[in-house]
Amino acid sequence: MSLTDLSLEELTGLLESWGEPAFHAGQVWHWLYRSLVTPFAGMSDLPLRLRQRLNSEALLQTMGPLKTLTSTDRRTIKVLFRLDDGMTVESVSMRRRGASGAQGRHTVCVSTQVGCPIGCPFCATGQHGFQRNLSSGEIVEQVLHFARIRPAEPVSNVVFMGMGEPLLNYDATIKAIRTLNSPQGFNLGTRHMTISTAGLVPGIRRLAREGLQAGLAVSLHAASDILRDKLVPLNRRYPLRELLAACRDYFAATGRRITFEYVLFDGVNDSAKHAAQMSRLLSGMNCHVNLIAANPVAGSSFQPSSREQARAFQTELRRRGITATLRRSMGADIQAGCGQLKSAECH
Ligand code: SAH
Ligand code: SF4
Repeated sequence: MSLTDLSLEELTGLLESWGEPAFHAGQVWHWLYRSLVTPFAGMSDLPLRLRQRLNSEALLQTMGPLKTLTSTDRRTIKVLFRLDDGMTVESVSMRRRGASGAQGRHTVCVSTQVGCPIGCPFCATGQHGFQRNLSSGEIVEQVLHFARIRPAEPVSNVVFMGMGEPLLNYDATIKAIRTLNSPQGFNLGTRHMTISTAGLVPGIRRLAREGLQAGLAVSLHAASDILRDKLVPLNRRYPLRELLAACRDYFAATGRRITFEYVLFDGVNDSAKHAAQMSRLLSGMNCHVNLIAANPVAGSSFQPSSREQARAFQTELRRRGITATLRRSMGADIQAGCGQLKSAECH
């Protein structure tokens, strides 16, 4: 049994079933998520008898790094993890310097599935199909790993933008958010966590009712159904009209402004006409558009738009009243950019 799969309540229940007082659960939780210790022997204020039982019946870690790559500027680290069934996923840690004097950001990008069933043609993860969902503990452990190897830079943000579609693994994703948010433990505010979705409408509607303050990013990439059907196959199930209605309702229910991600592909979705179409689609919405330069993916014919074209697209959107920023992808030299994560067997 893996401790990272348990909520604090479940851990308390487990220790109580062993005849232990409830407060030991709080201590274990603190060691695990605040002190970040492994193994159990390091939990020095627990009775030896409890440490021994934990050691024989529970696991603190179920996965380990198989390969670690650091970008030349040392700000981005990509780790390939081996899960306990031998499957693999990748996660990325990105450190951004703050403005003069301000605390920088340390963002961890986690995977939620091994592979992805949605199959967007420009994404490395989608090219090899779907293997399985990750458990909440496997999601949480990715964050803990980077917190341990970069102790000088506490994790400030977690984004669910690695491999897989988080809203297709809804329960584990929400449980991971709640675990990382626990004030007695890792204590990361839900406002500092962002879920990215390809547009799973029922998931967005459910998330709106969850009572979390997590951010929502929607991968738009096209403002017409004809084009989006090709770029994000999920659009055939949940077309733009339904997706945008769910986004509007999400904002109404949570008060959180939605981010629309839009990857710019040369000659595909990057003309002034496309920008005009998008401004019509989003008009009157309180939202933000993140324009992302496409990252190259082997076996995909999609090419990134030129810098000039990307700037022109951004200018056109802004002229039409849509706030848009052009995002720089980090860690391109180690294939750690958006859409470049994949499993080991594909290397
Ligand atoms: N499945 C979710 C989250 C993981 S993908 C989703 O699609 O939103 C995270 C982001 O990377 C998405 O916005 C996705 O469209 C983007 N992405 C995928 N392939 C990319 C590529 N080759 N270049 C740039 N961004 C890419
Ligand atoms: Fe899946 Fe997102 Fe990649 Fe599409 S872009 S295949 S939804 S991980």
